[in-house]
Amino acid sequence: SSIFAAVEMAPRDPILGLNESFNADTRDFKVNLGVGVYFNDEGKIPLLAAVKAAEKARLETQPPRGYQAIEGNPAYNAGVQNLLFGLDSELTAAGRVVTAQALGGTGALRIGGDFLYRLNPNATVYISNPSWENHRAIFEAAGFKVADYPYYDAATRGVDFVAMKANLLTLQPGSVIILHACCHNPTGADLSDAQWAEVVEVCRERGLVPFLDMAYQGFAEGIAEDSVAVNAFAASGLQFLISSSFSKSFSLYGERVGALSVITASKEESSRVLSQLKRVIRTNYSNPPIHGGAVVAAVLASPELRAMWEEELGGMRVRIRSMRSGLVEKLAARGVAQDFSFVTAQRGMFSYTGLTADQVEKLQTEYGIYAVSTGRICLAALNNKNIDYVADAIAKVL
Ligand code: PLP
Repeated sequence: SSIFAAVEMAPRDPILGLNESFNADTRDFKVNLGVGVYFNDEGKIPLLAAVKAAEKARLETQPPRGYQAIEGNPAYNAGVQNLLFGLDSELTAAGRVVTAQALGGTGALRIGGDFLYRLNPNATVYISNPSWENHRAIFEAAGFKVADYPYYDAATRGVDFVAMKANLLTLQPGSVIILHACCHNPTGADLSDAQWAEVVEVCRERGLVPFLDMAYQGFAEGIAEDSVAVNAFAASGLQFLISSSFSKSFSLYGERVGALSVITASKEESSRVLSQLKRVIRTNYSNPPIHGGAVVAAVLASPELRAMWEEELGGMRVRIRSMRSGLVEKLAARGVAQDFSFVTAQRGMFSYTGLTADQVEKLQTEYGIYAVSTGRICLAALNNKNIDYVADAIAKVL
């Protein structure tokens, strides 16, 4: 018999699986609110003008395609550090930040997971309840036991910070805690500045290993404004990790542009940490691809392109906000009694709408509107052509 006869069918990825169903749907009018991708008002994934300009300049030089260093493009890694910590950061000046280019935020999380697992395989990784679906899978694949900490409170549609903090205070020293640096996925509910300061102190007190996931910098308030969590940890003197993703903020999803940064205690420690990250990378994919990192590095290094990018990112942010308020108004205009104003308070691409799995199912079967069964919708997939249709359908299934 076949050597693969015993292979079982793996479950479909919940979100990418939804995409497959959407693509197979033959209805003329259908809307995909499932996937975490920003579409413009024409329903297209934008190619940012700053990216286009950087790509054009790059291709004109016809650069050679040799291997990159294991940790990637030095200009890119420096750009990531500057974006995270600012140009005059004490951390980077002290050599306390090690950055490795990674295959998207996912790749950064996995390199970090593999690195941490070698350091302490008995640690448990804690993710928020709920969290991005892939967090659990990534850290389990790295070998860790994964559990969750209380986060979302459906009653207030915000963070149950009292429960979260009480829980973190009970964790074993060395536990890894995954924190969404801004624009929490899937709930859109973030911690306040004061709460971040408390989380930092809890991590210090309990000896936790903070791992910040920064996948949506610029989508809440702006590049600098969305750095509150990073800044709080940077000022703490603690060691921590950050995964960066530029998939959404540069609209470069398929180029797989991300980075892992590890903040160490000293320059000497940094060199040992880097040597281990390189080992993880070398045995996975050897070294990262060139193009996406080079483009992002060029945009971040040029004052003109950087300003252009921030403006375009601002445009995405504003459009998502207008879709949030539009949806709330349109639901009210359709006589929906339930107060949906919380949708405008949530940050980032997503809203946890409170729609039940049954209602989500109905949206799909009866209206061709695809959402995650948890009720998460991506506001960035709404546009002026489909928002009325979506509001009609939601009003009907409620
Ligand atoms: N982390 C969170 C919270 C995300 O939502 C995502 C993407 O959806 C990622 C990480 C991974 O991003 P990337 O596509 O760059 O791997």
